Amino acid sequence: MSKLVIVGTVAFDAIETPFGKTDKILGGAATFIGLAASHFDIDAAAVSVVGDDFPQDYLDLLSNKHIDTSGIEVVNGGKTFFWSGRYHNDMNSRDTLVTELNTLADFNPVVPSDYKDAEVVMLGNLHPLVQSSVLDQMSKKPKLAILDTMNFWMDCALDDLRNVIKRIDVITINDEEARQLTGEYSLVVAARKIYEMGPKYVVIKKGEHGALLFHDDHVFYAPALPLEEVFDPTGAGDTFAGGFAGYLVKTNDFSFENMKNAVIYGSTLASFCVEKFGTERMQTLSSSEVHKRLLQFKQLTQFDIELG
Ligand code: AMP
Repeated sequence: MSKLVIVGTVAFDAIETPFGKTDKILGGAATFIGLAASHFDIDAAAVSVVGDDFPQDYLDLLSNKHIDTSGIEVVNGGKTFFWSGRYHNDMNSRDTLVTELNTLADFNPVVPSDYKDAEVVMLGNLHPLVQSSVLDQMSKKPKLAILDTMNFWMDCALDDLRNVIKRIDVITINDEEARQLTGEYSLVVAARKIYEMGPKYVVIKKGEHGALLFHDDHVFYAPALPLEEVFDPTGAGDTFAGGFAGYLVKTNDFSFENMKNAVIYGSTLASFCVEKFGTERMQTLSSSEVHKRLLQFKQLTQFDIELG
């Protein structure tokens, strides 16, 4: 079976949306990616760091979903990464209130030895030097390296970010971040500029407006499923990335055509993530619910037009 290495934060989040507010709950990019990827019955390992304030129950939650947690270092006396954010009324934008790096500040990732030959590496949102270090540890070049990042790292580590972007195959990034990275408003032009930086595939996530996949002169667009209620968008981007990566690992087909399906899987899983606070919805999501929503997705986008 193909293997997936996931690197990213495992975190405490405190979230405010127009619907309510949470205290510190389970969050982090690697957590959301892992929960999404666990739907594909693949070998996956998370590489991250937490402090000894992090509940064992949270680690068990990932292990119970068959995510190998041996690469999550627990630092004695250390504090877990903490992020807090507040969403605006439209739920499409948010302000970061607090980012406390804590144990993440001196994190040296260690890829478990069984996973050094993994076919796919999912570099979740983290310091670009940490992302690079994971690529350095692989015993052979992965078939696919996927990278997700955010404005925080563009603001404080742009050169390191550009260096790791040179080394990867697929970047997943949101529309605002693509604009910040390239200085271009048009997402088509931004995607082209990002190719020039290295990746052959560019996925631009547009929140409730879906996702675009660019490759050479080809573009594929998947809408987001129109939902009655979006409760908390936190982790939707990571869930998308976990679904995208998990599907590609499972199918072991890294063609543009198959990536279209991966985008649909990613979007489907992300549509569940936003229904409850944090990881709550992803913890209980069943495969029959996913299947039902994939059918809805198909109906949403299918049409039969006669072209003379
Ligand atoms: P998303 O909503 O997909 O952008 O991801 C939200 C998750 O990213 C939260 O669970 C946070 O813990 C995590 N996060 C927020 N800021 C950062 C950061 N600077 N580096 C890494 N992870 C972060």
